[in-house]
Formats: sequence, C-alpha cells, structure tokens
Amino acid sequence: MNTLPQKDISRLQKYIKQATKTIILSHVNPDGDSVGSCLALYLFLREQGKDAWVIIPNNIPDFLQWLPGADNIVTGKNNPDEAISLIAGADLIFYMDFNEINRLDQLSGYVQNNRKAAQVMIDHHPAPVIPADLIFSYTTVSSTAELLFKIIESLNSGKKITRPVAINLFAGIMTDTGCFRYNASNPDTWEVVSLLMKSGIDNDEIYTRIYDNYSEHRMRLMGYALDKKMVILPELHTGYIWLTREELKNYHYVIGDTEGFVNLPMSIKGIRFSALFIEQDKRIKISFRSKGNFAVNRFSAAYFNGGGHLNAAGGEWNETMENTLKRFEKLVHEFADEI
Ligand code: 5GP
Ligand code: MN
Repeated sequence: MNTLPQKDISRLQKYIKQATKTIILSHVNPDGDSVGSCLALYLFLREQGKDAWVIIPNNIPDFLQWLPGADNIVTGKNNPDEAISLIAGADLIFYMDFNEINRLDQLSGYVQNNRKAAQVMIDHHPAPVIPADLIFSYTTVSSTAELLFKIIESLNSGKKITRPVAINLFAGIMTDTGCFRYNASNPDTWEVVSLLMKSGIDNDEIYTRIYDNYSEHRMRLMGYALDKKMVILPELHTGYIWLTREELKNYHYVIGDTEGFVNLPMSIKGIRFSALFIEQDKRIKISFRSKGNFAVNRFSAAYFNGGGHLNAAGGEWNETMENTLKRFEKLVHEFADEI
C-alpha cells in the first residue's frame, strides 16, 4: 500500500467534521480484526469529541471482551431496537472489515434504509461491492487494523496515537495475521507494529489475554476434533474437520471456541488446503485455508456462497453435514490439480 490519497483523507475529514452521530459496523461473527478496528476508530473519534457507537450483528468472542471500549458495543442480536434506532439516526456510517452489505446479517436492510448518512468503507477484502461514498479498499494490506492505523495517522497530523487505540489496532493486526505469519511479509506491517509499540502497548500482555484465555472445554473440544473428527486426504493435500451441533453441545460450546481450528490440518506436512465445517441452526458454516496459489475465496464464492481472501475464506451451505461434506470431497477431487 502506498500513501493514502490526500483527497480521500480530506473527504473523510469533512465527513467527520460534519457528523453528529457516527456508527461503526463490523461484519457478523466478528473477529479480532473487525472488533479491534471498530473499537480503535470508536475511541479515536471519541477522543476528537465526536458521538460514535460500535454496532455488531452478534456477540464478540470472550477473548476480545477485554479490549478497551468493548463494554460499549451495541449488539444487534441482544439489543435490536437500540441498534436499529442508532442506524436510522446516523449521519455517518463506517463499514469495517467487510466488502458486502449482507455480511451485516439481519442489520443489512436497516443500513440500506438510511439514505442520509455518508458511508465510508475501510477494508482489505478483494472485490468490494458496497456502494459507499468513500472507499478505502486495499487488498494487499495485512488487516483492516493496519489500514486504519494509516488513516488515523493521516487524520491525526503526526500526533502519537493513544494507548487504548494502539491496543485495539495491535490486536487486530496480530489476530488477522495469525501472530504475524499470514499476509505479513510486507515490511510496512512491521513498521506499523513498531509505531504501535511506541504508544506504550504491552504486546505480551495482549497476546496472553487473547490466546491464553481459552476454557478447558475448548481445549478438550480441540483434542476431540483432532483425534476423532479430522479427515486427511494426503494424495489431495487436503485436510478438514467437521463438528455437529450435538458435539459442540457436549463440549459446552460458546462463540469463538472453534476459532483457529481450520488452521490445524495445515500444520501437517504436505497439507495445502484445509476446511472446517460447523453445524449451525439451519446451515453449515465453513472456513477455508490454503497455502500457495489455490484461491479459496474464489472456491468459496463459486461453491459455498462465500468469499474472503486468497488463502483464507469462509462460506456456508444450507444442506445436511453429510451432503455438504460429500459436495466438498467431490469438489476437492475436481480441483486436485490446483491444490
Ligand atoms: P474465517 O474462516 O476466519 O471465519 O474467515 C476467513 C475470511 O473469510 C475472513 O476474511 C472473512 O471475512 C471471510 N468470510 C468468512 N465467512 C464468510 C462468508 O460467509 N462470506 C464471505 N463473503 N466472506 C466470509
Ligand atoms: Mn480482516
């Protein structure tokens, strides 16, 4: 990513100056990057004396609950009336870390009904289709949090960002890069991290609060998934894990518990494509990961109503687990040459 166009920053400055009620939206099933980015922007705007709210369609995982500002998040699922009225009354809307309106789940329609608000998208997913007034879409950047750092830096005219903002941005970059592994080969990312460190954050504490924060149930579920529910197709360089609602219930599943499971098969020698299938109420939620050129975002968009990045994507399928897995295995055979 080069420097941000000055005309975009000026336009954003104008929007912020004119705004009286700003809402900041994350995609459904929020992750460290979407939550960290929303909260960093929220705290930054509050520091500027602006009225702002973070609205997220459903709950944030437990391991993010401690992030500065997280107590003030409005959750669409728990407080629909408040979320809907805030959306209707907003004159500035930020879309953080997503590229399609339907990633707002049940809130999508309400946002589309607000025609008076200026809309700004800040995201790093390919192929954005949100008709925002101002779009910061940089697909090579590690995370939305890294992109937001650059935006805040430009708005802040050289002033050091505050520690609570820096903590959220660091959490976003750290989680979206799987601790600085994926999509983190650009030196820019490390420069941003260096500047965040200068805001006085404790990287080790942030790591511990996010990754050493699992329940015993989650660890045992992971053991079960690895031992009993991981399927390895060595000749296809593919591995996947599948978990039913019943199994999740047995392990007292709470949101966030299967976070990272999709990466587990990838640690096996020779595996270049992995998937995680989670049975939800009416559908199977799927995560995909790959190494190299096999584009899981295109695979997911073409066959599982999803999208995402080249090497990390997600989707869903409205059939039984059995049919979904059959479909997946058939496709894996068809794509054998590309994986
Ligand atoms: P995860 O597997 O960690 O949930 O998601 C990996 C990536 O895929 C993220 O960048 C996320 O935004 C994207 N993603 C996950 N699920 C979906 C989905 O259902 N639709 C789309 N378009 N993207 C998704
Ligand atoms: Mn992200």
